[in-house]
Amino acid sequence: MPVRTFKKGVHPHDHKERTASSAVEDTPVPALLRIPVSQHLGKPALPVKGRGDEVVPGELICDADGFVSARVHSPVYGKVKRIVQQPLPAGRMSDYIEIEVNVEETQAHEWQRRDVDLDALDRKAVVDGIRDAGVVGMGGATFPTHVKFSPPPTAEIDTLVINGVECEPYLTCDHRLMLERTTELVEAIRILHRGFSFKRILFGIESNKPDAIEAVSTAAAGVSDTPIEIVPLKVKYPQGAEKMLIYAANGRTVPAGKLPLEIGVVVANVFTLVAIEDWFFWGKPLVDRVITVSGDGIKEARNLRAPIGTPFSDLVDGCGGIVGDVTKVIAGGPMMGVALPTLDYSVTKGSSGLLFLTNAEVVDESPCIRCGRCVDVCPMNLMPLKLAAYARAGKFLEARALHLNDCFECGSCAYACPARIKLVAWIRYAKNYVRVHKL
Ligand code: SF4
Ligand code: SF4
Repeated sequence: MPVRTFKKGVHPHDHKERTASSAVEDTPVPALLRIPVSQHLGKPALPVKGRGDEVVPGELICDADGFVSARVHSPVYGKVKRIVQQPLPAGRMSDYIEIEVNVEETQAHEWQRRDVDLDALDRKAVVDGIRDAGVVGMGGATFPTHVKFSPPPTAEIDTLVINGVECEPYLTCDHRLMLERTTELVEAIRILHRGFSFKRILFGIESNKPDAIEAVSTAAAGVSDTPIEIVPLKVKYPQGAEKMLIYAANGRTVPAGKLPLEIGVVVANVFTLVAIEDWFFWGKPLVDRVITVSGDGIKEARNLRAPIGTPFSDLVDGCGGIVGDVTKVIAGGPMMGVALPTLDYSVTKGSSGLLFLTNAEVVDESPCIRCGRCVDVCPMNLMPLKLAAYARAGKFLEARALHLNDCFECGSCAYACPARIKLVAWIRYAKNYVRVHKL
């Protein structure tokens, strides 16, 4: 079977061995949830519940504020304690709805399966369902999924690409979903196919997950009404990025500054598919997610399914606590994740990992030796050394002219740089400056 990939990129050690074979386990129901109203790209959702209000599992607690926004639902029985302002892991402030959980009632709750006539679903019903369930891109981007599936009248989606790549080191939650929720994944693809009648459905999985390739291939072969092509991919970072995955899976290039939609392609992460199946067949909105807790600094590395809003400290307790000399805690993966100053955060729709690293290098940077490695690995064909130098010198317009905004902060350049220059930090700083000052 030919194995494809994209151009450039890097090969970091994958460190997946501690959790790749760990089946997903449910966390104990937390006593308190802290649920941010802003868990997606776009406008924060608007709270529709306030202090003292009772909530039940699946009940709307925040409504979408406009088209590019996403609903938020309660995962539990409980009562709203208060609404507080706190930072998100990336630093932005957000309102959080704190819910005191009725643990006993929540433990006893079961979602009820409902009959779905797939043939009765049209595009509007599919997109409306995705919106109602508050589904966002679960691979990390957190873009509201109903927006992705709403092409402008001039565009038509002909290809669905499923992202089963999970190229970030340490993370294995998507891998486990492909093994444990395979039937649901295929059901979700059938739902989407009812709405869009895709010409091609390509399921990209990296070749370091042969068991997932086999499981998905077997499940896909069992459906006759939805043709799904499994595309094994070479192991390379950042293959899970949309533009890289589209090129790797079917050879199409998304032009700079354009969206996949503009070339007729939509990419959906495997977790996003599970969330779609949960809504259509179980009436369950996006109220929990699987997160990989790993790294040498955690006693028992695990894949945990946790309600949205679960404090990170509860995840640590569920993994036996912290061990050794932890030098860095990261929300997400080590390449694109965010270093945390404290554990005072909670699980959101975009939480894919919580890593406790004992080996994180604290290395001083040295001057650029103009080796060109950062240019060689950049999958967007940018010049990271120049972008960082312009950012450092305050020459933001010059950086913008070198396609600064095409950088999606994958971290490959910083990973490859022998001088350990904080290329992504400088580029991110320049992007923020350009955005805030509307340059
Ligand atoms: S410049 Fe941006 S897109 Fe290119 S390698 Fe660096 S972080 Fe990735
Ligand atoms: S990889 Fe680092 S040292 Fe080499 S050219 Fe790029 S910034 Fe300079």
